[in-house]
Amino acid sequence: MSAPAHFDVAVIGAGPAGCAAAAALAAGGARVALADRADFPRDKTCGDGLLPDAQGALAELGVLEAVAATGATVPTLAMRTASGLHARFPVPSVVARRRDVDRILLARAVAAGAVFLPGHALEQVTRVHDHVATMQLATATGHPELAARTFLLATGAARRPRELAGLGGGGVSAAALRGYAAVADLPGDELLIALLGELPRGYAWAFPGPEGAWNVGCGVFAGARQAPSLGKVHERFLASIGGTWREPPQGAPLVTSFPALAFARGNLAAIGEAAGLTRPFSGAGIGPALESGILAARCLLGEPGASGIAAYARELRRRYAGDLRAWRFGEQFLRVPRLVDAIVRRANRFPGALRRCAAVLGGTMSASRVLSPWGLLRLIAGR
Ligand SMILES: Cc1cc2nc3c(=O)[nH]c(=O)nc-3n(C[C@H](O)[C@H](O)[C@H](O)COP(=O)(O)OP(=O)(O)OC[C@H]3O[C@@H](n4cnc5c(N)ncnc54)[C@H](O)[C@@H]3O)c2cc1C
Repeated sequence: MSAPAHFDVAVIGAGPAGCAAAAALAAGGARVALADRADFPRDKTCGDGLLPDAQGALAELGVLEAVAATGATVPTLAMRTASGLHARFPVPSVVARRRDVDRILLARAVAAGAVFLPGHALEQVTRVHDHVATMQLATATGHPELAARTFLLATGAARRPRELAGLGGGGVSAAALRGYAAVADLPGDELLIALLGELPRGYAWAFPGPEGAWNVGCGVFAGARQAPSLGKVHERFLASIGGTWREPPQGAPLVTSFPALAFARGNLAAIGEAAGLTRPFSGAGIGPALESGILAARCLLGEPGASGIAAYARELRRRYAGDLRAWRFGEQFLRVPRLVDAIVRRANRFPGALRRCAAVLGGTMSASRVLSPWGLLRLIAGR
């Protein structure tokens, strides 16, 4: 076997988290390898909604304009409750196909100097105590090895890479389906989130994307138990909005369990969904994926090696532990439709409450400001 290629940082997985980390690290002067099991461009099953937090991170990476040019700009997020109440939140969003978003992010990382290794799947990790020495990757023609001072795992919801990296498997927290459709009966200037009586532990969505193709989906928390009926709920929802499929539905898991999953060990850390950073309840994870990648890069450029990883773990916990705890709390009260209706009424009546809900939905304010006992009391009191 040939000697391993040496890098400062090896990033495994070239979705938003991996590309953001690789781009920021390479721009800061680090020698970076970025490996993915897929050849690019590749698709990723997703709602394609880029909320304000994701747009902020894309702007920081210098690709927001390029991404927005491939997508549709939508000024409002509308929520419809099971009893038929509506609220319209000012959450300016971009709906763009992940094939395009991830291709542009990858090009940014490569332009900054990262070495991209397509068709390289993680298959083995060599560790000395808590220190990862090398990672072995499977390709169509062999089993090359990567050596690096630090490793970042950005492999999304996949379980096996976390196990190989010594972080434990972790569970799937939610499951969702999405397809692309022509939709006749909805306004084209809002993202629709529809809470459905028949789906008390989830919701359906319809997001107007580029070229008249709507991303129509539905998801359920704590996936497996309700997942078999999800396809039927999805079809009924599509019919209710006057939709017909252009591309049939596909399903994918979501992992929302940060910080319960181990996400840092020695000279290795997980970023993005590999760290469980997709938000419970909303299922939005592109913003946290990009932000965690940028954060890991900043920490490692400041302090290379295990101390940079420890700094990343501290900062990540500070930024996201309370936020995701609050979203998890929100999942619980979705089961109480009267409470959801009361919140929507308050948001419609009080501009301050509407703005706070909008900032939480857009990922630019911690969810604990609304989705906590204190936040709810404040909302119900009309403040
Ligand atoms: C149906 C659905 C709808 C969603 N809608 C939205 C939405 O509208 N907005 C939003 O913000 N979020 C949404 N999400 C969540 C969002 O898709 C994820 O949070 C986001 O993709 C996480 O980014 P990531 O970079 O961490 O992982 P990913 O985007 O999953 O990227 C992981 C990469 O790792 C690679 N990989 C995996 N295993 C290996 C391996 N063994 N070796 C090498 N490479 C590997 C994969 O090929 C992939 O390229 C949705 C999720 C689902 C399932």
